[in-house]
Amino acid sequence: MTETVLPRVRAEIDLDALRANVRALRARAPHAAFMAVVKADGYGHGMIPCARAAVEAGATWVGTATPEEALALRAAGIGGRVMCWLWTPGGPWREAVEADVDVTVSGMWALREVTAAARAAGRVARVQLKADTGLGRNGCMPDDWPELVGEALRAQENGLVTVTGLWSHFACADEPGHPSIQGQMDVFREMVAYAEGRGIRPEVRHIANSPATLTLPDTHLDLVRPGIAMYGVSPSPEIGTPQDFGLRPVMTVAAALASVKHAPAGHGVSYGHHYTTPGATTLGLVPAGYGDGIPRHASGSGPVLVDGKWRTVAGRIAMDQFVVDLGGDEPPAGSEAVLFGPGDRGEPTAEDWARAAGTIAYEIVTRIGSRVPRVYV
Ligand code: PLP
Repeated sequence: MTETVLPRVRAEIDLDALRANVRALRARAPHAAFMAVVKADGYGHGMIPCARAAVEAGATWVGTATPEEALALRAAGIGGRVMCWLWTPGGPWREAVEADVDVTVSGMWALREVTAAARAAGRVARVQLKADTGLGRNGCMPDDWPELVGEALRAQENGLVTVTGLWSHFACADEPGHPSIQGQMDVFREMVAYAEGRGIRPEVRHIANSPATLTLPDTHLDLVRPGIAMYGVSPSPEIGTPQDFGLRPVMTVAAALASVKHAPAGHGVSYGHHYTTPGATTLGLVPAGYGDGIPRHASGSGPVLVDGKWRTVAGRIAMDQFVVDLGGDEPPAGSEAVLFGPGDRGEPTAEDWARAAGTIAYEIVTRIGSRVPRVYV
């Protein structure tokens, strides 16, 4: 037995690291306001504790994708400015207006719904107009911008909305030197100039996500909106490591070995027998699987630190468990197996798992499931 009894699997969340990351990012954009992006349960780290920690470290805005997330922040007592951007028709516009959430409008149907909600609530809705400057996802296309701006101005004159922001989102900010970055900035400046020329007076103009906050100071404008970097994870290996930017990974995922047993040479391991022991060995059972958000694509490649040594997932990752070949070592059941963390204890990082699974580190942390308890340290 180990001295401490470890839970089956846990995600330790280092809120001091998150606060330090927010301060480090703010120092890179000293003239811009800071919006902490906490969508998707704070990229898997826990939306409410992360939002609170970010605000403590100086974030004056908190950003979410869905209105439900924004309303959950308000219900948890998060004050200050909250903005959300992913709406569908019939969404909770009135609740958002009453909760003083800045709502994003990307087109005419949304403007109609938010003005109706403002009228019903007897409140002025805070509206941010989103421009599609080249991401090709959400946002108003340049050709449709004059109509949207015109209608937003009319709604403003009628006392139903106030346009608090004009914003956009990058497609390729994580690819240094990508020509679309300058292209999007040019389009954004034109769209902002048009709206301001017609009389819109936004409090904030913004476009910078994590890679732009880290590497493109000309894009910081009035506000930066970093997500992944706040959690101490690099947006992409091309940009650099978290350490290059003074960032510290916030999440550590570790499990307690459920068993350690001897196996002879030629023993097939896990579903499909995609791994066969090359010689007599010991097998450690890690009680976490794709049901916990551990990517099955990392079968045969995901790294785990056990007893000071990197081991590799042997065979397939199943729903609840996977196996590592311990090469004859015999750590006791209950020993710690660290899947990923900051890396300074020699453990793998989320970036290592991303490489093993053929995905991005964003997905590794965000998909850690609700069955894995978050332990705030
Ligand atoms: N702003 C918007 C609109 C987003 O959708 C996201 C996340 O994808 C972010 C900011 C933060 O992006 P990142 O995590 O790359 O910093």
